[in-house]
Parts: sequence; C-alpha cells; structure tokens
Amino acid sequence: KLSPRLRAIIEMVPPLECLADIGSDHAYVPIALIQQQRIRRAIASEIASGPLKISQRDIQAAHLQQQITTRLADGLSGLSRQDQVDLAVIAGMGGQLITQILERGQSQLRFISQLILEPNNDEPCVRQWLSQHHWQIKTEQIVQEGRHIYEIIYAQKQANFKPLTPQQVMFGPCLLQERSQVFQNKWQKQLQQAQFMYNNLLKAHQLQPQKLKQAQVRIQKIKEVLQ
Ligand code: SAM
Repeated sequence: KLSPRLRAIIEMVPPLECLADIGSDHAYVPIALIQQQRIRRAIASEIASGPLKISQRDIQAAHLQQQITTRLADGLSGLSRQDQVDLAVIAGMGGQLITQILERGQSQLRFISQLILEPNNDEPCVRQWLSQHHWQIKTEQIVQEGRHIYEIIYAQKQANFKPLTPQQVMFGPCLLQERSQVFQNKWQKQLQQAQFMYNNLLKAHQLQPQKLKQAQVRIQKIKEVLQ
C-alpha cells in the first residue's frame, strides 16, 4: 500500500537503532521500517494533534506502541539527546518549511548525524542549507508518482566536508551524476516552462530586464545539463 515516494524514503534508511519521523502524519515510515526489522525504535513527531491521533491509531493497529512513541512538537524541538536518535526523516513538506525546521532545530542537530529529507518543492533551498551547515549529501533518489516528481536526499554530518557547487545545489550532486530518465523528464519540463516564461516576458508590454535575464540564465543552466 506504500506509494513509490514512501517506498523510496524507506529504502534509503540504513539499518539503525532509532529514527525520528518529523511531520509523521500517518506514521507509515516508522511502522514499515520496524515491521521490516530495519530499525529498532522510532519517534513519530507532529505539530498538529489531528495527524498525531491518526498516527497513534495506525501504530496501535500495528501493535507497535512499545517501539514507536509519539510526540506533539514543532519540528525537531520534541527530541532530546537522551532519545539517541540516529536519523531524522522530514518528508512531504515544502522545501522552505523543511529548511526552517532545520534552521530552528540546530541544537537538536548537534546530536543527530543523519538526515533524510524529501521536499515537495524548492529542493535547492534545502541543499543550500545542508551545504552551508556542513551536511554532506551522500545519496539522492528521484521518483515519479503520477504527474509528480519527488527528490529524496540522504545527508550525513562528517568531518571532511566538501561544499556543493551552485550547479550541484540546483540539480542535486548525485542526481546530476546519474542523470536518470526521471531526472531528464523533470528538467525537460522545467526547460519548457522557463522558455514559455521567457517568451511571455518578451511579449509583455512593459519590459522587465531583470526577470528576462533570470529566465535566460535558467534556460542556459538547464541546457548545459541536458546536453
Ligand atoms: N511525512 C509524511 C509523508 O511524507 O507522507 C506526511 C507528510 S504530511 C503532507 C505533512 C505533515 O507535516 C502534516 O501532518 C503536518 O501537520 C506536519 N507538519 C507541518 N509543519 C510541521 C512542523 N513545523 N513540525 C512538525 N510537523 C509539521
């Protein structure tokens, strides 16, 4: 019953002791991982009590109350060092919101060494934050689900950190290397949209040179990668 997006997130989780799922909603990710015996315990954290009730119901239905605890909290704020969280998943939200959660959760991120992030949009904003805060992107996945394309990022905090280039921030360092069919489909579509916008700007009565330049640069950057 899991969607391709959720399956890809789950597959990216290495075997570990404790996972925190932030914005857990239905808690499908921790439930599946414990059932597959890939993790031993989990914390399902939610900002809203409605979704938290749904996750509590699903956890009970799976008889996993011993292994999965739930928290009502904003972002990472419900986690403490004593929880010994190895990895936090933040999935199914906008990239700006994920970035805010990371930014506000910096004290918790001192005791968490792995992240899996799945922004529904604004992926470069998330990658930029990771790079600026010395989180190394180790693997990425791109999956199509109906008309939607999702990018999933796995990052680790490590000593010998290498910052991302602007091109890697835009396209994803691992996705860029792999250039899968889904990746090419995504950027073909982005190219068409950018060209459409560029043409509309050209036709507009009032010339907007800055926007025109931005569209031109974007078209150029995408073309370089699709060549
Ligand atoms: N993570 C699940 C997934 O990927 O399928 C559920 C995604 S659901 C669309 C987004 C969830 O994030 C909602 O349940 C919402 O209440 C929760 N959320 C939004 N902002 C949050 C925040 N600041 N802290 C924790 N949870 C948040």
